[in-house]
Amino acid sequence: MTVDFPNKHFLINGEWVCSNTEIDLIDPSTGDVIAQVSEANNEHVNDAVGVAKDTLENTWKNITARERSTLLSTLGRLIEENYDVLASLEATDVGKPLRQAQADVKALARYMEFYAGAADKLHGDTIPYLKDYTVYTLREPHGVCAHIIPWNYPMQIIGRSVGAALATGNTCILKPAEEACLTALAFGALTKKAGFPDGVLNIVTGSGKTGASLSQHSDIDHISFTGSVSTGIKIQQSAAQNVIPVTLELGGKSPQIVFADADLDAALPFLVNAGVQNAGQTCSASSRILVQKEVYPKVVSMMAKQYEMLLVGSAMDDLDVGPLISKKQHEIVSNYIQQGKDLELVATGKYKEEINNGGFYCLPHLFVDVPADHSLAQNEIFGPVQIIMSFDDEDHAVEIANGTGFGLVASVWTQDGSKQMRMAKRLKSGQVFINNYGAGGGVELPFGGRGLSGHGREKGFEAMFGFTTIKTVAHYHG
Ligand code: ADP
Repeated sequence: MTVDFPNKHFLINGEWVCSNTEIDLIDPSTGDVIAQVSEANNEHVNDAVGVAKDTLENTWKNITARERSTLLSTLGRLIEENYDVLASLEATDVGKPLRQAQADVKALARYMEFYAGAADKLHGDTIPYLKDYTVYTLREPHGVCAHIIPWNYPMQIIGRSVGAALATGNTCILKPAEEACLTALAFGALTKKAGFPDGVLNIVTGSGKTGASLSQHSDIDHISFTGSVSTGIKIQQSAAQNVIPVTLELGGKSPQIVFADADLDAALPFLVNAGVQNAGQTCSASSRILVQKEVYPKVVSMMAKQYEMLLVGSAMDDLDVGPLISKKQHEIVSNYIQQGKDLELVATGKYKEEINNGGFYCLPHLFVDVPADHSLAQNEIFGPVQIIMSFDDEDHAVEIANGTGFGLVASVWTQDGSKQMRMAKRLKSGQVFINNYGAGGGVELPFGGRGLSGHGREKGFEAMFGFTTIKTVAHYHG
């Protein structure tokens, strides 16, 4: 199978369009230019929004939920059929180990399957009211939705946000990140193949300028954004100007809390993998490991041993850790590692073999005894850097865990059922995992943050509530 989409073009109204400004796409594993993408300007964005609005009114509104379901299901099948192509595009473009890119293709297909199944199962209510009234609610799409996504998990984020928006009857404009947009364009090509009407999904590529132009457009009805806190604030300000709802997923500083009675052998792979997967460039990465003092030395030594076995190499070498996305990200992460020079570094990973190219590699770093107010304990690093901190008791663990501005996910490792329940309630977090981390990424599980991690929920049915609005109809019949 192949997915065909022309180089340097983006998608408006089913047509591949280009501009005269181009951005180089770099392979993070080598530093080489692999393609160019066109930068969509204000006019292109305006066209895309206009088309999405017309398509909504004239075409998409007349398509039944059942038909949307069939389209999404066909799209899911096409994604599975193009598994190899999509995985290698994502691995090359993002620099992620091939196995992780393959898991992302599966997740994208699964999102389509989930939202295909859910599309015709969302409905309003009837509400008992005064005599002579019948009251019901209609659940309606917002209209034209903008999806501004980052470079770390393009396919997964397209799946959870565009999937839910299309299932609920919205039209979409997708703006992938300038660092990695090949699978977004491939997804666009597959929507055409699946038979989606032209203009239902439009894609504009480009830098933050294109994103700003899209988020400021007055005909957008909803924005979903995943990315940095600073850009999230700008997006929310744009949304405020047009008084439209916005879903923000802005990352985290997510803790795993290991109590003395935990099954440490079961915890170990999760403690490490959740920090280094995708080279730590994961919104829900677990960058803080909180360990009860009785088992602290033991956990430090177990994690250090695991770190020493971590191998770093190119995406196609398919090792534990690939390169970072860009030179800029490499500088940011290196700067944090530099800020850790006063801390104890207990272990790093290693290169499988010497790398002599322009790739953006960074060894995983494990720091211990990190004070709670240290910059490495407070800031999202977005690289393969984890810190370990010790705590005395439950209250102390909660104080440290809730002691950053973020609140995306958290996990608790203990065999004590009451403690599991108490901790789940006390943690400031959008998701809490007990004796696991991430629960396999479940597309069914509502996901989103509190505080600096953002607001609104993606994934599962909850996302479909977010992409719809309620109309109450009160019928007086005398
Ligand atoms: P990062 O710093 O990790 O690249 P960003 O949050 O800046 O993350 O980028 C995430 C997405 O937001 C990308 O698609 C990017 O082009 C877009 N973006 C960047 N700046 C803006 C902006 N001012 N308005 C809208 N979108 C933006």
